[in-house]
Amino acid sequence: MLHIGCHLSSSKGYAAMGAQALEIGADTFAFFTRNPRGGAAKAIDPSDAKKLTELADAHSFGKLVAHAPYTMNLCAASEDIRTFGREAMADDLKRMEFTPGNYYNFHPGCHVKQGADAGITLIAQQLDQVVAPEQSTTVLLETMAGKGTEIGRTFEELRQIIDRTELGSRLGVCLDTCHVWDAGYDIAGDLDGVLEKFDKIIGLDRLKAIHLNDSLNPCGAHKDRHARIGEGCIGAEALVRVINHKSLRGLPVILETPNDLDGYAREIEFLRHSYSEEA
Ligand code: FE
Ligand code: FE
Ligand code: ZN
Repeated sequence: MLHIGCHLSSSKGYAAMGAQALEIGADTFAFFTRNPRGGAAKAIDPSDAKKLTELADAHSFGKLVAHAPYTMNLCAASEDIRTFGREAMADDLKRMEFTPGNYYNFHPGCHVKQGADAGITLIAQQLDQVVAPEQSTTVLLETMAGKGTEIGRTFEELRQIIDRTELGSRLGVCLDTCHVWDAGYDIAGDLDGVLEKFDKIIGLDRLKAIHLNDSLNPCGAHKDRHARIGEGCIGAEALVRVINHKSLRGLPVILETPNDLDGYAREIEFLRHSYSEEA
């Protein structure tokens, strides 16, 4: 079963996102829990959230993959910025309980001049304060391209965040194909090898979602510029191998390609066409 969707705007509410997903052939989607550039979040209407949950159940949706704001930096050198991010995440996780059992994905952060090791410890410390044993949401660390001082450019760094977090058992990973490619993992030439590495270092049981994007830049470029499927350096064939890989079946696949809704509908149709149940 291929669960695929794209980023949708939450400006018209939850049920509206579900309806829009169906219109474009999606059976999962991503959305920002608040303005991606930061700021206060709109109050959630519980009945609207419930409508989405019912729609998702009725149409056998895959898990939804909410995305934290880009401005969140849990390993900022400034305590104020760390606190701001931590509080936003705590609030988001409360909001996620209106649509229980889904995923909340975030960018681990940028260590700036503190060094990766100090950054990893800070991220784990913030997570310790917000990840609660009773929450139904799994928090996902996104694999990053390694632009600037981004943490999460290697599988080892993500493993260390998980290891240093007390409730590491509540954490998972979202693999972004553009980001791992830009970070230097050759998913076009050696997908099996990359996934073996992932399994050895993090464990494939931790892999909960895929961001499916092509990349404008060559492998190892550390740039993070997304391209439409087949219009970048990874290529459509390699991305089709990703969705068909036996280790990745059933995971929600989210497109973050530069597209309008019609473009997303076309990519979803193409990928559903390219997916084979028996492969
Ligand atoms: Fe992201
Ligand atoms: Fe992503
Ligand atoms: Zn990106």
